[in-house]
Amino acid sequence: MTQNKRILVTGGSGFLGSHLCERLLKSGHDVICVDNYFTGRKQNIRHLLTHPCFELMRHDVTFPLYVEVDEIYNLACPASPIHYQHDPVQTTKTSVHGAINMLGLAKRIKAKIMQASTSEVYGDPTRHPQTEDYWGNVNPIGPRACYDEGKRCAETLFFDYHRQHNLRIKVARIFNTYGPRMAINDGRVVSNFIVQALRGEDITVYGEGQQTRSFCYVDDMVEGFIRLMENTPDEFTGPMNLGNPGEFTIYQLAETVIRMTGSTSRIVKRPLPQDDPMQRQPDITLARKAIGWEPTIQLEQGLVQTIAFFRNALQQG
Ligand code: NAD
Ligand code: UDP
Repeated sequence: MTQNKRILVTGGSGFLGSHLCERLLKSGHDVICVDNYFTGRKQNIRHLLTHPCFELMRHDVTFPLYVEVDEIYNLACPASPIHYQHDPVQTTKTSVHGAINMLGLAKRIKAKIMQASTSEVYGDPTRHPQTEDYWGNVNPIGPRACYDEGKRCAETLFFDYHRQHNLRIKVARIFNTYGPRMAINDGRVVSNFIVQALRGEDITVYGEGQQTRSFCYVDDMVEGFIRLMENTPDEFTGPMNLGNPGEFTIYQLAETVIRMTGSTSRIVKRPLPQDDPMQRQPDITLARKAIGWEPTIQLEQGLVQTIAFFRNALQQG
């Protein structure tokens, strides 16, 4: 039987956070969801509001927080390039000040803490697939730097709190994840393509569409978070790659979405954003070995659920 814990999820009203809150409640835990609604929405957690073990707090993690919990999942941070580049200074603050505040909290209350880091710490990788010991290839002054460097600095802080204060930390490097509850205006590729296809609008492929990404379905990702937090010894810190090694070009994704939605949309090419990584694929050997984890839901299976979600969301207006 699972032991009941009090768990804080920052960014809990966002896409990944809402699925994580739901899963933790199902396992019998008490959940405090903290969010400032920058990209998250109450709609994502509305169905949890009446749950007796769920508590919602509007709070910005760049300010200190005082709560009593056993574990913290630190997910607060905009993840879509259009949103994190909208106010880049705030993005860096969210990653860096947010990490300092959550690590300070974890230290004071002796909580275990997981950081939602990202494959973006590898930048535009020169090694393929990416393993955790690769230090990355990040432009520190480009438009993606507020996110990439913010997340890199957060990892640094996590490891320094671990070395300096013996904090129990877990660092997950998340690769592109998609699924129901992404916002219609999220701006990331899977939601953009599905929404465009369902509306019969042009599908906007940036560049030639030959850049690759590896797409993981949200349920697999949440399972990975929980195993990393619960099924590893205290001295195990990561970083650990979590993602689906299936790799697709963006053009292939566009064609797949058109086929699966039965859309009449055309594919149009738009300029490739600066510093857009050319390829990305996780090496998940460590996750397989340390937590017995690998994705179980392949792209087309996950797209069925995601397309159904957006069809419904668009019908409701
Ligand atoms: P999301 O934008 O849906 O969720 C982020 C949540 O954080 C939102 O609810 C937002 O309102 C909240 N937030 C932002 N700034 C905040 C602040 N200062 N204080 C409190 N809350 C704040 O994105 P997501 O895809 O659910 O991503 C969740 C986490 O996972 C992020 O940290 C992201 O960097 C990381 N991640 C996600 C992916 C992915 O593909 N989904 C990949 C790599 C890393
Ligand atoms: N992309 C695209 N059309 C879109 C949105 C994104 O071609 O409408 C491309 C983008 O240039 C990138 C890939 O899809 O090469 C993934 O973009 P996303 O913003 O989802 O995530 P990230 O670049 O952070 O991996």
